[in-house]
Amino acid sequence: MVKKYRVGILKGDGIGPEIVQAAVDVLNALEFEAEYIELHAGYEYFRKSGKAIQDGFFDAVKGLDAILKGPLYTPPHEKEFRSINVLLRKELDLYANVRPFRSYKGFSLKEFNFVIVRENTEDLYTGFEFLYRGVALALKVISYDGVRRVSEFAFSYARSNGFNRVTVVHKANILRISDGLFREVFFDIAKNYPEVQADELIVDTAGYIIVKNPERLGVLVTPNLYGDILADVAAAVVGSLGLCGSAQIGRDIAVFEPVHGVALDIAGKGVANPIGELESAKLMLIHLSNKYSDRKLYEKALVLERAIHKIVEELRILTPDLGGNSKTSDVVNSITKLIQSNNT
Ligand code: ATP
Repeated sequence: MVKKYRVGILKGDGIGPEIVQAAVDVLNALEFEAEYIELHAGYEYFRKSGKAIQDGFFDAVKGLDAILKGPLYTPPHEKEFRSINVLLRKELDLYANVRPFRSYKGFSLKEFNFVIVRENTEDLYTGFEFLYRGVALALKVISYDGVRRVSEFAFSYARSNGFNRVTVVHKANILRISDGLFREVFFDIAKNYPEVQADELIVDTAGYIIVKNPERLGVLVTPNLYGDILADVAAAVVGSLGLCGSAQIGRDIAVFEPVHGVALDIAGKGVANPIGELESAKLMLIHLSNKYSDRKLYEKALVLERAIHKIVEELRILTPDLGGNSKTSDVVNSITKLIQSNNT
């Protein structure tokens, strides 16, 4: 019997509802058997209900196979409103944030295929900040266990996805103790994966290489903040933030969301690029395929991947962020047609 997956849907803020709906439409076209359970959190939900996250959210998450999520807004001017993204990462212990970056032929400047695996629960994101007599302090937290599990994840990801190199990104020349520990634990773990080459880059050099020689990169593993910044740089090298998706992996659940934020400047206009969310849906299919040994889901992921590349590289159905004038719905309809005609 075909397994019916239980997928939480968190539409989020800004362009979130438009692109999450686009992803559900495409998953339906792929005949992905799922029951969707709507979850509520974020700034829009807060404005309507007075709560940043629905009561019982974490109970509702229990028993789900995955969560497909849009971006959530954290207003910088409202100091009382804490990031729900950070809360979800902490509460669901989503320790590895996986962001694949692959070039599009005739579109990206170079040909490349690399992945940033960002430690997702520690570093400057733990929220320990103080103001004392005109001096602001923020705690950078790096733990042995945090680095161990994200490094193990990065090496086994490299091994099962055909990468022969994992690079740790750090600034241990300045941050001797915190980034020093990240680097040291990474190289300790590397000893367990002798078939994978382990090396290192200082974070500023990593930024330079992502722009100049991305074809040299394989899997990068980074502390939280560097991964956040480098992922946006990498997205620009791919061609747009709107093209990139991510998987946040936890022990019990994984959450799939685009790399970009809420894009308030284009929200509600029907021109958001849905591909970052579709890429995230693809990563969800691959994740569930591996987790439940469901080969069919992997095939669906490949169909989706081919359809995405075809509409960008050959058919050139491009939203404005890619220099075109297509609408979100044009992209979704074209991808859906390709899937349904099995013409990917
Ligand atoms: P946040 O505070 O949530 O990070 P932001 O607006 O600062 O939001 P992004 O949402 O990542 O950052 O957007 C940066 C720029 O990229 C914006 O001009 C936005 O319109 C554009 N952008 C991001 N995602 C998309 C998308 N899916 N389609 C088209 N343009 C996008």
